[in-house]
Amino acid sequence: MVQDYGLFIGGKWKKSEGKRFETRNPATGEVLATFPLATKEELGDAVHVAKGAFEKWRKTPAPRRGELLLEAARIFRRKKEELGRIVTTEMGKVIAEGRGDVQEVIDFYEYAAGEGRRMFGDTVPSELPDKMCLTVRMPVGPAGLITPWNFPMAIPGWKSGAALIAGCPFILKPSSLTPLCAAKFVEVLDEAGFPPGVVNMLTGSGSVVGDGLVAHPDIRAISFTGGVDTGKHVYESAAKKMIKVGLELGGKNPILAMDDADLELLMDGVMFGAFGTAGQRCTAASRLIVHQKIYDQVLEDLAARAEKLRIGNPIDEKTDMGPVASAEQEKKVLEYIEIGRKEGDGLVTGGKKLTGGAFDKGFFIEPTIFEVDRRKRLALEEIFGPVLSVLKAKDFDDAVSIANSVKYGLSSSIYTTDLRWAFRAMQELEAGITYVNAPTIGAEVQLPFGGIKETGPTDTREAGPTALDEFTYWKTIYVDYSGRLQRAQIDTEKLTGG
Ligand code: NDP
Repeated sequence: MVQDYGLFIGGKWKKSEGKRFETRNPATGEVLATFPLATKEELGDAVHVAKGAFEKWRKTPAPRRGELLLEAARIFRRKKEELGRIVTTEMGKVIAEGRGDVQEVIDFYEYAAGEGRRMFGDTVPSELPDKMCLTVRMPVGPAGLITPWNFPMAIPGWKSGAALIAGCPFILKPSSLTPLCAAKFVEVLDEAGFPPGVVNMLTGSGSVVGDGLVAHPDIRAISFTGGVDTGKHVYESAAKKMIKVGLELGGKNPILAMDDADLELLMDGVMFGAFGTAGQRCTAASRLIVHQKIYDQVLEDLAARAEKLRIGNPIDEKTDMGPVASAEQEKKVLEYIEIGRKEGDGLVTGGKKLTGGAFDKGFFIEPTIFEVDRRKRLALEEIFGPVLSVLKAKDFDDAVSIANSVKYGLSSSIYTTDLRWAFRAMQELEAGITYVNAPTIGAEVQLPFGGIKETGPTDTREAGPTALDEFTYWKTIYVDYSGRLQRAQIDTEKLTGG
């Protein structure tokens, strides 16, 4: 039975006036559910409700807000298997990763709940007697959360967990490829008992709902994850309103393989980094930069390992890599493979769409590896699919210079057994994240996550204690208990005898 969903506004599922669209399984083509394209009026209703809920939610003590997050985490834990299967069925990542998507929500909600009892500010000495100075975090107001399809539960989890604990009601606008995951996500929050209007979800187009949220005068923060072009557009519109905006955009993440690397460990890391989630992670390892001394050996090992990966229906536990997420994704990845061929990059393995039998119903592409010159498009542009570009470096400095030559700066990694290279990489790689002897993926929720350059502005970071920055502003408070007018910068002279 295909379920027809509505919009979640003010604690209730509401019918919509908008046209409907389908969501499908990218491995089988099966229709999973239908959703409405929310209208401008419905967007206005949702923002109105969220604004109303803000007055009460901001005054709910943060530890009480945290209790609701903990309750939601408990429900996510109970439903982990069911929700993980929905992630896999709707988005196409293998089932172990589907479960991981849900685990990330559990982890972050538990972490954020604890933040409700911390949310530390500073106490600072005053230059005057009998006066106290402190800083406190204040919630900015209703927030718009615009999310992509590649982590269809985890990314709504990161963004909403931070908004909720900060005291901000939110409207989630999920990717039109994964609305079912978002609906199931919101059902859990509803069951956990968040007050009506605190949690809202609108499905619909990026141009109506996404744009509409960013431009709405009562939306006071936007947290966006997606492509660079959309992200820049969101950044510009948000700037016109001078509101908080967090952006997590693309990556072209390098793994540096030094000539002293443990090659077995390197191969395990590269396979997971490049072909996990069929390469559709903003942190995917899409460039492998190899020291010339081990280059031939690494190429040989890579091809052998990639050809052993089992491609198929991601719900099957034995599958190593599932389909890409949509027909559009498939087209884009195949176009990049063609660009590689035309530009003369050396195809090491893969390079084709898989066809025949069950493959014909989905969007399956072979794990693909190219030898690429550093100036070619495959060395510079984000592909967001199972395509790895391998580049040769003369030495450590050359490897770092190749790594830093792209417009992105999200994740990076080095495999080496020499401490010098490891520490220099930590210092010299232009990226928000650097791993040593681990692939470019594997972020943990208690640490900040984000990038530099065109990956996004550096003033916000998701996850970790910095997650609160997206949804709060600092208020500075002065309490004068001297009982007389004390003038900063003027009366201080009397105190020092100056
Ligand atoms: P988009 O940037 O187009 O979409 C991300 C989200 O933004 C979706 O919810 C989308 O809605 C919404 N959106 C689209 N247009 C607007 C708009 N004008 N204003 C506000 N919101 C909007 O990414 P795609 O999903 O199309 O993927 C394209 C590329 O982006 C990928 O190939 C990849 O390179 C990159 N990407 C990066 C991710 C990351 O983690 N950093 C994640 C996903 C993609 P709708 O779905 O309705 O269009």
